[in-house]
Amino acid sequence: MEDDERTPRRDATDRPTRSRDTRDTGRTRRRFIWLTGTAAMAGLAGCSGGGGGATETTTATATTTQSSGSTGGVPEAYATATSLDGTQRNPDSLSSQEAVSYQDEPKDGKQCSTCRYYIEDKNGDGVGACAIVAGEVDPEGYCVSYVEYEG
Ligand code: SF4
Repeated sequence: MEDDERTPRRDATDRPTRSRDTRDTGRTRRRFIWLTGTAAMAGLAGCSGGGGGATETTTATATTTQSSGSTGGVPEAYATATSLDGTQRNPDSLSSQEAVSYQDEPKDGKQCSTCRYYIEDKNGDGVGACAIVAGEVDPEGYCVSYVEYEG
């Protein structure tokens, strides 16, 4: 008797459960499809965004390169600044530090801070620039183009 009563109850319980399962599965499937679609769109957007990011990164790098190229490897304030003797720096006409054997240390008492081409520190970071050599220059640096400033 009890078994007979249980059996229908189980069926009755199972049916709605199955039905709910089916509905849930359907809902889950729809949600999965929606999420997949959304994820795909997000992925596409991410690709496009990533591409954009990559482009931005490339652009930023290019800009930095152009920036350093256009300023000769120094902050903008030094780009066309004048040196101790009044020589104006031309970012498009500079020797590389390698070409002039630039070093961060003085040589035989000669150093950038006493060279006619030295451009003094303008931003308080302790380094300056040079009117004829690319890149930042340490006041205690030296290169073969050194010419004593007699001003
Ligand atoms: S020693 Fe060379 S790098 Fe230094 S300021 Fe003179 S020319 Fe420029």
